[in-house]
Amino acid sequence: MGETKNAELTLVIVKPDGLKKSLTGNIITRLAETKLVIVGSKMVRVSRDLAVEHYKHLQGKPFFEDLIKYIMGEYHTKRVMALVYGGADAIQKVRDICGSTNPEEAQPVSIRGAYGRITTKGVFENVIHASANAEDAEREIKLWFGPDELIDPIYPMVEVEETIRRKKWK
Ligand code: UDP
Ligand code: MG
Repeated sequence: MGETKNAELTLVIVKPDGLKKSLTGNIITRLAETKLVIVGSKMVRVSRDLAVEHYKHLQGKPFFEDLIKYIMGEYHTKRVMALVYGGADAIQKVRDICGSTNPEEAQPVSIRGAYGRITTKGVFENVIHASANAEDAEREIKLWFGPDELIDPIYPMVEVEETIRRKKWK
């Protein structure tokens, strides 16, 4: 993938409504149309800190608090699936299949158009997150994944020595 022209990484999140609606397989199948490569994937229980950092560009919007609750899974299930896709023009290819942010405006064949809804509180429950541009993608991938969790990390890395407490199997 590193050799590919215009190689990019993009972050995809199957949001809690997507998991609750059993759409994970469907979404991964749809995204396979792009011929992009999955370079990282994991299930995440989203903390408040992660949610606020991820959506910090929307702080101050009337729907912000509900959006944080939504991505933390307060309304559906407390988990998301985070994936990183890589390849030529990854960001735009994934966004095209996702569709517009507002599920009512999204193409009916897009993921958001087919499965999203607008709640009575006005939040777009649109099933999937996808990075909007290169700057967002890099920021978001670095927020959600460490270098060791990606097959082909394309961003510069440093090695550090540190003492950490971590869980091991008994
Ligand atoms: N959102 C919303 N109402 C809005 C704008 C955004 O509920 O008017 C939610 C929606 O779930 C969206 C997320 O906030 O996916 C992030 O918004 P952004 O503008 O970054 O859209 P995206 O990049 O997800 O298309
Ligand atoms: Mg966005």
